[in-house]
Amino acid sequence: MKRVIHWFRRDFRITDNTALAAAVAAAGPDCEVIPVYVVSDWKGSHEWTGPARQEFLCGCLASLAKNLEAIGGRLIIRRGDAVKELEKLVAETGATEIFANRDPDPFGRLVEDRLDIMAKARGLELFLPKDACIHERDEALTGQGTVFRVFTPYSKVWFGLPKPSPGPAIKKLSTPSGVSSLPLPQLTDWGMSSSVSIPEPGERAARERLKVFIAGPIASYGEKRDLMGVNGTSHLSQDLRFGLISPRQIYAAAKNVEESLPPEGRKSAMKFLAEIVWREFYMQLLWHYPELLKQEFNPTWRGMEWPGLPGVPDAFERWCAGMTGFPIVDAAMRQLAATGWMHNRARMITAMFLTKDLHLDWRLGEAFFMRSLVDGEIASNNGGWQWSAGTGADAAPYFRVQNPWSQTKRFDPEGTYIRTWIPELRNVSNGSLLDPPSDGCPIAPGYPAPMLEHSAERDRTLDLFARHKVRP
Ligand SMILES: Cc1cc2nc3c(=O)[nH]c(=O)nc-3n(C[C@H](O)[C@H](O)[C@H](O)COP(=O)(O)OP(=O)(O)OC[C@H]3O[C@@H](n4cnc5c(N)ncnc54)[C@H](O)[C@@H]3O)c2cc1C
Repeated sequence: MKRVIHWFRRDFRITDNTALAAAVAAAGPDCEVIPVYVVSDWKGSHEWTGPARQEFLCGCLASLAKNLEAIGGRLIIRRGDAVKELEKLVAETGATEIFANRDPDPFGRLVEDRLDIMAKARGLELFLPKDACIHERDEALTGQGTVFRVFTPYSKVWFGLPKPSPGPAIKKLSTPSGVSSLPLPQLTDWGMSSSVSIPEPGERAARERLKVFIAGPIASYGEKRDLMGVNGTSHLSQDLRFGLISPRQIYAAAKNVEESLPPEGRKSAMKFLAEIVWREFYMQLLWHYPELLKQEFNPTWRGMEWPGLPGVPDAFERWCAGMTGFPIVDAAMRQLAATGWMHNRARMITAMFLTKDLHLDWRLGEAFFMRSLVDGEIASNNGGWQWSAGTGADAAPYFRVQNPWSQTKRFDPEGTYIRTWIPELRNVSNGSLLDPPSDGCPIAPGYPAPMLEHSAERDRTLDLFARHKVRP
């Protein structure tokens, strides 16, 4: 009897799953599919993930296992090096083909190269289709066939390409009995615990989030997406990260509703889709330039010094803890600690604060975000950090340093976001949240005075960048 393996990686769904659908089709009606997830053997030493994301992963796997059972299958869990475990599974089951959706990040690509070698050596068919992106790698190039480094022309080409429709849910899948499986992973397997309030994991919950967004907030996304105290964005980032929903499903749902909206609503829906394009813009950049994870995209800023804030050795720790004395920065860092998610505008503000006010290396913040975010996505996170530091592709120029106080006035004018996340400031008047205290004293008991003066540190940033630019 023909047996094929589907290796789940970051695609924890049975609807519109490219490789899984191909595996089921290849297996045929009487044949068997072995759906497997291999828990990585990094044993907790990885500095780029943390309890909130691991807990979400565990929840996604539990939900996937149930969904597979409901259609007659069984999720097999193995632990260790993915290629070695897949090789063992082939030997145990006699599977002749391996299906997996390819991973857009450089770490996934390395594993795929090794898997390819193993498959060839064993005479196995290996199918690694595109799934995590609508367009990736070399699909959206300049007229000269080169890689876009600037977003707007990239997005024009992206929108001009034909779009695949989402595929249906798998209805039936049978997994051979007798294939051994470890229990579903638990957070404690990594010696971790978490008190972060994460979103509900699983394909059904992700579809529900999309439904809610499409039914209402998408129509005013353009107007509300930057207001940190308003629930104006989709909250789909962790779902895209873990493949609980596909970008094709999101695109189709947004395009479908767009056609029925009045002009402002249509603009909003397109603005939303442009954010989906930013995700793919950063993914294709990282695919072409994996060195982005180590160095500045813009060669002008390579080797920059990040000297830190003079006389404040614990500046990074204060930033992490949300105790800088800048309410908007601290609210954002506390939202991250409490929920594993941070509003996009707040990500920009906190990243600029770390790099331009505290003069700390963007890589420190990038790693901290990767450990803390449920949606931690290597390409978007690196892109966002390099954008904010002024070192990235299509980045904010170094001399455009956001002022946290003006950002508060524009994007949290009522202090709603600040009061939600900083209990010490719940009874403080609006005026005290929008400007630095004139006497430099704390504005509430237990909450620190601002740890620096923004305009002085802005000048220092301009000086540091200008001196680096003209260095011999
Ligand atoms: C410093 C920094 C770090 C970031 N780190 C991550 C990360 O690790 N993972 C991550 O998914 N996003 C990251 N972003 C992008 C963005 O902040 C989040 O995708 C967004 O806040 C998620 O909320 P949402 O799903 O409600 O977004 P929406 O506004 O509803 O957008 C829809 C989707 O578009 C994508 N998207 C939106 N904005 C961006 C963007 N600027 N860049 C790339 N994709 C985007 C996301 O997949 C998002 O789910 C980062 C941004 C910055 C400035």
